[in-house]
Amino acid sequence: MYDLLLKGGTVIDPSQGLNEELDVAISGNRISHTAPSIREQESAKVVDVAGKIVAPGLIDIHTHIYHPGRNWNHPDVAGVRAGVTTIADAGGPGSADFEDFCDYVLTKAETKVYSFLSIFRERSLGAPPQESEMDVDGVIRIARDNPEIVKGVKVIVAPRTVQSLGLKHVEASKRAAREAGIRIMMHIGDIGPKRQTPTPPEVVAQALAMLDPGDAVTHVFTPLTGAALDENDQLLSELREAQERGVFIDTSYGDFNFGWERADTVLAQGLKPDTIATDIEIHAGDGMRKLSERGLLEYTTFFLEMGFSLEDVIRMTTATPARYLGIEDRAGSLAVGREADVSVLELVEGRWQLTDATGESRVGSQALVPVVTLKSGRVIEPGEAPHSWGWTPPTAVEGVASVGDGS
Ligand SMILES: [Zn+2]
Repeated sequence: MYDLLLKGGTVIDPSQGLNEELDVAISGNRISHTAPSIREQESAKVVDVAGKIVAPGLIDIHTHIYHPGRNWNHPDVAGVRAGVTTIADAGGPGSADFEDFCDYVLTKAETKVYSFLSIFRERSLGAPPQESEMDVDGVIRIARDNPEIVKGVKVIVAPRTVQSLGLKHVEASKRAAREAGIRIMMHIGDIGPKRQTPTPPEVVAQALAMLDPGDAVTHVFTPLTGAALDENDQLLSELREAQERGVFIDTSYGDFNFGWERADTVLAQGLKPDTIATDIEIHAGDGMRKLSERGLLEYTTFFLEMGFSLEDVIRMTTATPARYLGIEDRAGSLAVGREADVSVLELVEGRWQLTDATGESRVGSQALVPVVTLKSGRVIEPGEAPHSWGWTPPTAVEGVASVGDGS
């Protein structure tokens, strides 16, 4: 007798090459059987998922849920309540506030939360960070003591740090990461005040060349300076070489880091990204409505519009991010025996306005919305949707949202 049966859905699980109608049976917190037809009488509980997509629990490798000294919102808002079972907080706590992170974030989340530490002792939003604030030994110690939580070091290549430190913070982050056996996540793109000196492409190239297999670079579609392209709009060869040696290429949007034109240029020059993630900021009281409106599922709409297949999109939010986090033996797959992390989704059709960070909009025709999420076999309904109308992007207004719409 099974505890739970997901009946009648289409399983899309790139980790096993599956895209077919299969029932999924769960016992306790594990996936115990998948087959074209499992009888309802064999399960204590049945969830009808006919016409829906049954995917491994989605993974978002780039979120910001921890903000030292501030109130915080529930990580599950971007996690299990939004169709996502695993998230990583990318560069919230440093060595001085890691314990605070654990107290405030980990103990309250049903979503599995991993951490990318900052090399700086505390996250400061004021003056540019100083070399004396870096804590290589602290990061190594915390990572070794907490292998189930700490998966990497987040490092930012942008004017605020580069102008005061050059790439010393990248060197220090790399030293700590290699010593502790964890990954680097490197931010590229000149966030911050508009009138600052852009980071020269040579510096970005130099930073990219420091990444090792298993590390990641994030924001490759950002329209900001100091990112994927040189002055002549040519893809930095270091980015291509990084991917060739096994560095993961991530596309997190946040509020500033997706541009349609930039994405076209990067894709046209042959760089295909590996992962989709959000860079979503969650603050107390905001839910997903302010700062970053796009949750992971809403952002996948942009990729479907760019011509990525549904299987691509699910691979980029399940199996591949699981490999990046080094958790592919326990997440990102619906194989029998795995923990029952499942995202049941619906693919809906419409006309949606997909606006980039420059204000350009294109019209998308397919969107994924959460139906129900299983975390370790527990059934969790979606929470409050990010928009007043629900989970899909805003509806495109006839004749208004067609800027750059090539279709
Ligand atoms: Zn970020």
